[in-house]
Amino acid sequence: MTTASRLVLARRRRGLTVTRLAQLAGLTARRLSDFENGRAIPSPPSLSAIAEALEFPESFFSAGEVADLPVETVSFRALSKMTASQRDVALSSGRLSRGLQDWIGARFGLPAADLPSLTSFSRLREDGQIPYPGEAGGGDNSAERAAELVRTRWGLGVAPIANMVHLLEAHGVRVFSLSRDCPEVDAFSFWDRGIPFVLLNTEKTAERGRFDAAHELGHLVLHGEEQIPHGPQAEAEAHRFAAALLMPSADVLAYAPRNPSTNWILQAKRRWKVAAMALAHRLHELNLTTEWQYRTHCVELGRLGYRKAEPESRLPRETSQVLGKVFAALRAEGTRPADVARDLHLRPADLNDLIFGLIVTAQDGGRPDQGQHATAPRRPQLSVVR
Ligand SMILES: [Zn+2]
Repeated sequence: MTTASRLVLARRRRGLTVTRLAQLAGLTARRLSDFENGRAIPSPPSLSAIAEALEFPESFFSAGEVADLPVETVSFRALSKMTASQRDVALSSGRLSRGLQDWIGARFGLPAADLPSLTSFSRLREDGQIPYPGEAGGGDNSAERAAELVRTRWGLGVAPIANMVHLLEAHGVRVFSLSRDCPEVDAFSFWDRGIPFVLLNTEKTAERGRFDAAHELGHLVLHGEEQIPHGPQAEAEAHRFAAALLMPSADVLAYAPRNPSTNWILQAKRRWKVAAMALAHRLHELNLTTEWQYRTHCVELGRLGYRKAEPESRLPRETSQVLGKVFAALRAEGTRPADVARDLHLRPADLNDLIFGLIVTAQDGGRPDQGQHATAPRRPQLSVVR
């Protein structure tokens, strides 16, 4: 039996139209549509041709249903500018990451989600403590307040955050790598059955990666599980949240001199592990620089190459503690990534795509603590520290 939705998922993962895949597999577009709609079942040779054209193992197509990931529930940054193909590739890698999460979750105890709930924000908004977006003082203030609430709940005080990915993972967020087949997408997040997911583009600078991770946390905390608002307002809120989380106002105000110079920014960005431009913007946001000074910083930083990159930065890209420990534990018991891929009915390359850049490959790891209850199902608890 072929699961029709898996045909669609695999095709979208490769960014192909029905017409193009039909050409590659030597079928008519109508015939392929019939397979995808479940109106017809592909013969073994047709299925082989499709599997080969899509570079998916044939077993992928006969496995169980894969739940949809509706675009409304995903925090795409510039949805209107994305092509259908970019959107499909990103969404389908999100769907595949859920499968990997389920596989890992069935074998290892991972931290449960510990994010301030939307209801607590709604209550604060109803009490007038957090303005609604669009209200006087809304948007910016609510994002600042939300970042403070997250810091309080997680016991972070106002200290700089050492590692954003580890922080997310310690609080139950599952972090995966965004497919390298959609480099245009920065990052996105979604909730799935009570589990928050963040997919990161792992090929950007370390500073940008941290900001993206904080930005997506902003969406998860501020915006809905059912429907994430898309558009400039929601993006501005998530951005303000990220800046406030990474560069808390109390710390910046205590640390920054009056009229900070561009050179000061280049030194101080290391304290918060942020991009120079992000710090310049934050200084202005907190009224530590005038409009004119902010523009001067932007021009000078742009001239020095800080608009698109972080020249001379030695900040390493953040990796995943959860995935590192999981794959080290699997290796210790003789389970190779290829075995995991086979269980998920993926090619090893597609499994690798979900964790690329998040794992230090040559990592050495011991066996996880298996507990004392020999009769209990073996589901070692991963200790994740931030
Ligand atoms: Zn966003």
